Amino acid sequence: MAELICIVCPRGCLLHVDEQSGAVTGQGCARGEAYGAKELRNPTRVVTSTVAVTGAVHRRLPVKTDREVPKALIWDVMRALRGVRVAAPVRCGQVILPNVCGGEASVVATRDMAAQAVPADTAGDGQALIHYL
Ligand code: SF4
Repeated sequence: MAELICIVCPRGCLLHVDEQSGAVTGQGCARGEAYGAKELRNPTRVVTSTVAVTGAVHRRLPVKTDREVPKALIWDVMRALRGVRVAAPVRCGQVILPNVCGGEASVVATRDMAAQAVPADTAGDGQALIHYL
């Protein structure tokens, strides 16, 4: 019997999952039952990170996968994002990296990032820009 803390909501129910049958007990709702069964067979997560952006007041753009990916692929997704550089403007939801790691998930922007002329010696660093305000 495996013990898991359900991460679907803040209540954090302690789940007991039978490795043989996949039966789940201890859940407070049906979502926890589904989470417990899947977590043992095929754990997945949405990956959140940032990528480099040019021509904007910030140097990093927050992104996430548009669906969950297998936990075993999380570091592959992070490595794929390492060299990505996008140019502003960017719209929230814009696809930044389609079908990351050859899967169905795409990496999308999680906020708008307007194009903005930045003084050359700040190199897009929002902290340095404060000195000009
Ligand atoms: S089992 Fe249901 S109530 Fe309990 S933590 Fe998971 S989602 Fe929340």
